[in-house]
Amino acid sequence: MASILAPNMHFAKTGSYSVVEPGKPKEAPTPSTGGGSAALSAACTRQASTVKQMKKDGKPADQIEKAVEELKRLRAELAVAEKANAGQGTEHNIDRKLFDETVLRRMFVVPAFEIHGGVAGLFDYGPPGCALKQNIVDQWRRHFVLEEKMLEMECTCLTPEPVLKTSGHVDRFTDLMVKDIVTGDCYRADKLLEDHIDDLLEKGNFSSSEADEHRKVQRQADAYSPEELGAILEKYGIKATTTGNDLTKPFAFNLMFGTKIGPSGALTGFLRPETAQGLFVNFKRLLDYNNGRVPFAAAQIGLGFRNEIAPKNGLLRVREFTMAEIEHFVKPDEKKHPKFANVSNVTMKLFDRDAQLGTGIVSSMTCGDAVAKGTIANETLAYFMARTQLFMLRIGMNSEKLRFRQHLSTEMAHYAADCWDLEILTAYGWVECVGHADRACYDLTVHAKATNTSVEAQKMLDKAVEVLQLTVKPDRKTIGMTFKKDQKAVCSALEGLDSDKAAEVEKAHSAGQPYELDGFSIAPGMVLFTRKKKMVQVVKFTPSVIEPSFGVGRILHALLEHSFSVRKEDAQRVVFQFAPVVAPIKCGVYNLQSGSKFPPIVTRVVDLLTQAGISTKADTSGQSVGRRYARADELGVPFGVTVDFDTVEDDTVTLRERDSMTQRRVPIAALPGLLRELCGLDGDVVAWKDALSAYPEVGASEASGPITLETTSRGVFSRPAALVKK
Ligand code: ATP
Repeated sequence: MASILAPNMHFAKTGSYSVVEPGKPKEAPTPSTGGGSAALSAACTRQASTVKQMKKDGKPADQIEKAVEELKRLRAELAVAEKANAGQGTEHNIDRKLFDETVLRRMFVVPAFEIHGGVAGLFDYGPPGCALKQNIVDQWRRHFVLEEKMLEMECTCLTPEPVLKTSGHVDRFTDLMVKDIVTGDCYRADKLLEDHIDDLLEKGNFSSSEADEHRKVQRQADAYSPEELGAILEKYGIKATTTGNDLTKPFAFNLMFGTKIGPSGALTGFLRPETAQGLFVNFKRLLDYNNGRVPFAAAQIGLGFRNEIAPKNGLLRVREFTMAEIEHFVKPDEKKHPKFANVSNVTMKLFDRDAQLGTGIVSSMTCGDAVAKGTIANETLAYFMARTQLFMLRIGMNSEKLRFRQHLSTEMAHYAADCWDLEILTAYGWVECVGHADRACYDLTVHAKATNTSVEAQKMLDKAVEVLQLTVKPDRKTIGMTFKKDQKAVCSALEGLDSDKAAEVEKAHSAGQPYELDGFSIAPGMVLFTRKKKMVQVVKFTPSVIEPSFGVGRILHALLEHSFSVRKEDAQRVVFQFAPVVAPIKCGVYNLQSGSKFPPIVTRVVDLLTQAGISTKADTSGQSVGRRYARADELGVPFGVTVDFDTVEDDTVTLRERDSMTQRRVPIAALPGLLRELCGLDGDVVAWKDALSAYPEVGASEASGPITLETTSRGVFSRPAALVKK
């Protein structure tokens, strides 16, 4: 394991949130997996100059005509791609140096164990990061757990080996790795291929169909087998990035952190790589808790651990992260959702598997249409996708920069019915932040089988139906001779088998195999099978599960990026435009003038707001109010209260909105109610103009700082909405 960590030991080599040295190139963003209009545009430019050169060189007319045809074709393709990308936010550029510097300096996220040199993929959340994360999680609980009446659990992170052996993680939770044959440095093979293709397309001269072929290979990078990927790496001539040395063949590397549980070291365990297994192994109890009714959903928020081969890009690929997972159990043949009508009009951007391997075009579709056309497999899966999108909008994500990408069939586990990732556009490209998978009944079935526990639920039919029931009758003579003193136990175990188990015995025996029952080997001929007609109104079934799985850190990073902006007047003055519902600090309190009268009022306002559950921070430093607003902007504080001479007279203050920088005069007593409305603490968020309409607008007296003020006949006003998205 040490050799795996070695190449990434120091966070500064690979991490984000550290200051990029001046003059150093910005980290290249990970490519988007769709669109490709930048490559097309470059191909158009190249083809145009080829045509020009051919004309200049007096090439034959038929050759020029051919080149012109190719140019026309490229331009037409570019027009289609640009149209498809219009409004899809395929560009997301921020001043990464300023972003990273602010995130780090204001302690949203900091490298863990920094003074000891740090370890790649481990980060700590500082005070505003912690509050932001908690607010995202609170909104998630409200939007999913409470609104959908989910059964929430908190299961342990330490997990004994048999659980993860059963789930398939011990054998298959792997990424493909290659090593530098000289230095032993480790690389994640699929990412190496993706990065190589990016470089190739950026630097090379390809026709659009060639570029498309490369993009298709790139999109399938994490779906190849070790052999396929090895052959592709060889074909592209890919070498170790840092040394140029040859690489080993790709091999599977298990991402779980192993450990020993207990002092004897006898019990092998792992830190869980996902929270889901805790919910599956508790299914029987959860079903009882839910009075035996299906559908129902269980949910869990907690840490997951993955020993990533190449952690990078800040919180986007780390080794310890908070997940929020839902397991929604349904009847396998009834995946309709009772609340589907609530979301059927939600429009989503869908990048289905055909488009990924073909046109590269993302389509906008309503949730209802997507299910009706069979693009999304069923209502319940689509319902959760729409609810995920609504959640993202509630916490302030940019709607233009969200899309759902369907898994290619080679990417999905064989038992999965359909999978869609919510991807969010960041400066690193489109990043998977939430997986949505219809996992059929795989998980429950494997745990049931390994532990001999029933995970069946019952369904009451409208009326009784006739069924053929299979029973097993022991041949007592043979059983007596074979099992002697145990014959009684064996007979009663056989007589207790239900129809499904009896079918398993019959299947084994008709294949000439013995059937293992409670440690006894029941050979063919030891039992007789009989079928009886029976009327039943209750049928048993193993539920299927639909699983939305959220990575909270990735969501937080994307939200930081989507909220990042600068004041128009000063490109260095950062404002995080957090939605008030998630803003780490909701309100700043300032004294406009100095003097002994003001601090007690500031303290009174802070206490009043804090008691009302509004996170509030006073800033009574002697600096100009403009400087103090700027400091609050960097923490994304959406509202500010200023105490001044008038406050002493009439107990009113000014309430200022961060984004418009407009202000209203408000009695102190009205502040808690107003701010709770503005921050959506009691339900929907009330907009500034609606919440404050009854209160008079006042001018800003920002004494200094970079905000330019203009005088109007009504006095001094700040410029409205002076924010630019970078
Ligand atoms: P990737 O392909 O990017 O490695 P994954 O498909 O393995 O992700 P899932 O197993 O579906 O991811 O995990 C669910 C969610 O957990 C992801 O959508 C993502 O938000 C988050 N996640 C997974 N791995 C990491 C990681 N190393 N760092 C941060 N978040 C992660």
